[in-house]
Amino acid sequence: MGRKFFVGGNFKMNGTINSIKEIVHNLSSAKLDSNTEVVIAPPALYLLLTREHLAAGIEVAAQNVFDKPNGAFTGEISVSQLKDSNITWTILGHSERRTILQESDDFVATKTKSALDGGIGVILCCGESLEQREANDTINVVTKQLEAVNKVIGKDGWKNVVIAYEPIWAIGTGKVATTEQAQEVHAALRKWLKDGVGEEAAENTRIIYGGSVSEKNCKELSKQSDIDGFLVGGASLKPAFVDIINCQA
Ligand code: PEP
Repeated sequence: MGRKFFVGGNFKMNGTINSIKEIVHNLSSAKLDSNTEVVIAPPALYLLLTREHLAAGIEVAAQNVFDKPNGAFTGEISVSQLKDSNITWTILGHSERRTILQESDDFVATKTKSALDGGIGVILCCGESLEQREANDTINVVTKQLEAVNKVIGKDGWKNVVIAYEPIWAIGTGKVATTEQAQEVHAALRKWLKDGVGEEAAENTRIIYGGSVSEKNCKELSKQSDIDGFLVGGASLKPAFVDIINCQA
C-alpha cells in the first residue's frame, strides 16, 4: 500500500478564539481530498476548542508535549492529558523549539518515545540552518537528529512517526527549497531509514516537507517521489490551506 499524503498545519503562537473557530469552520465545511490525512496544531490553549468544533476525520496535534507522565512540571502538558482530550498527534523537535528553547536532539528523542509509548503520533521535525547547508552538512545534521530518536524508539516506533524535513532557512521566510533540494534530502532520509531502521520503515514512513509551502508551490513539490505531504506554518492560517490539502486532487 502506498504512503497516504499527509498535510499538517502548524498555527504556532497565533490565533484567538474567534480566528481559530473561523479556521476550523472553514476546514470542516470544505471539500477535502479523502486521500490526504489532515492534522492541525493550534496553540495548547485552543486544543480542546479546536477538537470540539473540528469535523471528525481531521485530527488535532499539540505543538509540543513533555516526557513525564504527571507531577510538578509547571507549564508542561503530558501525553496522557493529550490522550484524555482526544488530541492524537504532537509536533516535536520544531526548529523554533530547538533553537529558541534550546531543545537537544536527546530531549526531542525522549519526548518522542513518551508520546509513542502513550499512543500519540509524532510529527518529528528535522532540518539544517543556512550555515550548515552552505557547509555541506545538511544530511549529516538531519540524520543525526533522527538517529537520536531511533536509538530510543527502535524499529517499530517509526510506524507512528511522520518525519517533517524543514530547512530552517525556509521557515517563515518565503524562501522555499527548490523541488530538487527538497527531494534530495527526502531521498537521503529514506535511504537513512532503509539502512538504519529497515526496509519496511523506509517504505512506509511519510516524509513531509515544511518551509514556506503555499498554494502556489505545493503542486510541484508534491510530485516528487519522496515528498509525502507538507507541514505548513503561515499558510495554514489562511483559506488557501484547503488548496494545499487538495494539491493532488
Ligand atoms: C513551520 O513552522 O513548520 C513552517 C513550515 O512554517 P512556514 O510554512 O510559515 O514556513
